[in-house]
Amino acid sequence: MSDAALHERINTEQSLFINGRWSESASGRRFPVFNPATGQVVAHVSDGDAADARRAVDAAYAAFPQWSRLPAYRRGVMLRQAAALMYERRDELARTLTLEMGKPIREARGEISYAASFLEWFAGEGERAYGDIIPPMAPGKRHLVLKQPVGVVAAITPWNFPAAMVTRKVAPALAAGCTVVLKPAEQTPLTAMALMDIFAEAGVPPGVINLVTTNDPAAVADAWLSDHRVRKITFTGSTEVGKLLMRKAADQVKRVSLELGGHAPVIVFDDADVDKAVRGTMASKFRNSGQTCVCANRIYVQKGIYERFAEKFTAAVRNLRVGDGLSEDAEVGPLVDEAALEKVTAHVEDAVARGAELLAGGRRVTEGELARGWFFLPTVLAGVRDDMRIMREETFGPVAPLIPFEHEAEAYERANDSPYGLAAYVFTENISRGIRAAERLEYGIIGLNDGTPSTAQVPFGGFKESGIGREGGPYGIHEFLEVKLVGLAVDEEPR
Ligand code: NAD
Repeated sequence: MSDAALHERINTEQSLFINGRWSESASGRRFPVFNPATGQVVAHVSDGDAADARRAVDAAYAAFPQWSRLPAYRRGVMLRQAAALMYERRDELARTLTLEMGKPIREARGEISYAASFLEWFAGEGERAYGDIIPPMAPGKRHLVLKQPVGVVAAITPWNFPAAMVTRKVAPALAAGCTVVLKPAEQTPLTAMALMDIFAEAGVPPGVINLVTTNDPAAVADAWLSDHRVRKITFTGSTEVGKLLMRKAADQVKRVSLELGGHAPVIVFDDADVDKAVRGTMASKFRNSGQTCVCANRIYVQKGIYERFAEKFTAAVRNLRVGDGLSEDAEVGPLVDEAALEKVTAHVEDAVARGAELLAGGRRVTEGELARGWFFLPTVLAGVRDDMRIMREETFGPVAPLIPFEHEAEAYERANDSPYGLAAYVFTENISRGIRAAERLEYGIIGLNDGTPSTAQVPFGGFKESGIGREGGPYGIHEFLEVKLVGLAVDEEPR
């Protein structure tokens, strides 16, 4: 598809998808969506408000009885069909995704496949949402445990995975028999819009999934949080907003699942295979220009291997090709917006001002075509200390701080010294040390010699302030199911 055709297709002012139909917002207001590689506007979309949010809940609430009673197998057929359509349109979806958030097109294609895999996996998990029959305490009793969908689910998603964060929530919710109202991030509504078309074409009935795009996320979220018909909030985004939503959800004791921020440590032990460690750390750090919640944020390297690791890692970082995500050979794209660029710049400036040494990068791209966009050079910092901002706050950019350490116990202690607990990575060829590390680290995801551990089949989620609940794997669907006891009193057999 040419860029002109793509623009025409997505340049829509009717971006609310409610009860199976596209519409404008009640206010008629719109907001722009930017291409981070050029700073140009690529579309204007509807700016939904509280009235639109309520209309979406009306539709989801009305659709719930029929959808929840449909056999899980029938829901699964539709989810598998939606996945098939995503694979079929992978290139087109990937271009839309890159256009609005900037990631390299090869990564965007990977994300579309990853996103589709949640639909396939949860289609099957819906069919296997078994209940239990529990042996009774007393002769006249029987105990049945049913798993039932929680009801209308409100899903709020971030911009960094505009397709996968949607399907990682929507697939288990729909498979469980819930209906959904979805609010994508204001930076990336277009991919979510394309997914609505796919669900409709796959046969998902009107009202089962609804989309409200908005530039005022709090207004839409508040409308959902104060609506008794919405039974669950599932959110991926920053810890700050997650806490806000959790507080508000408390008023009606709504179910919450939160996938929040991270500050992932990488520990490279002396006995690591240095090439494997460099490859794994590069994958964790520079994927999506460092804008993932599981990105390496603190790279602890044991003294005996530090020099070799720093040299090879820095050489690999200098080799990364920075470019417009739409160009086939780009390896690192732009940051999502101006605010992201300012935050990354501030973290690097703070570290350098406090004595860190720049081994690569360290600044915004100011030459040539890329100067128009929000590009930051892949950066390596040495001599990083614990009092620097970069060691405490999520940088969300292509900046790798290297920190030497001496002893194993010191590495665990420093790695665990964080309010976050999402992902941690360990590189070692010593199996006992690997197991010890996996057990000692207070993180929900451990990559052991593995820079990219997540797939649809496994649990994803954090300890501490990184969240509540798990997405993916058999665990993912339980977040959308209520457990109901049916206690039966059975009469004695007549004599
Ligand atoms: P963000 O919290 O600013 O935004 C996330 C979503 O929340 C967006 O849809 C946004 O519109 C909405 N939002 C913002 N303010 C709101 C409010 N007051 N009320 C209701 N909704 C509001 O985060 P972001 O910058 O879009 O995403 C990056 C963050 O997401 C990072 O912290 C990252 O670690 C986290 N993240 C976590 C995971 C995970 O699985 N744990 C995955 C991806 C991203």
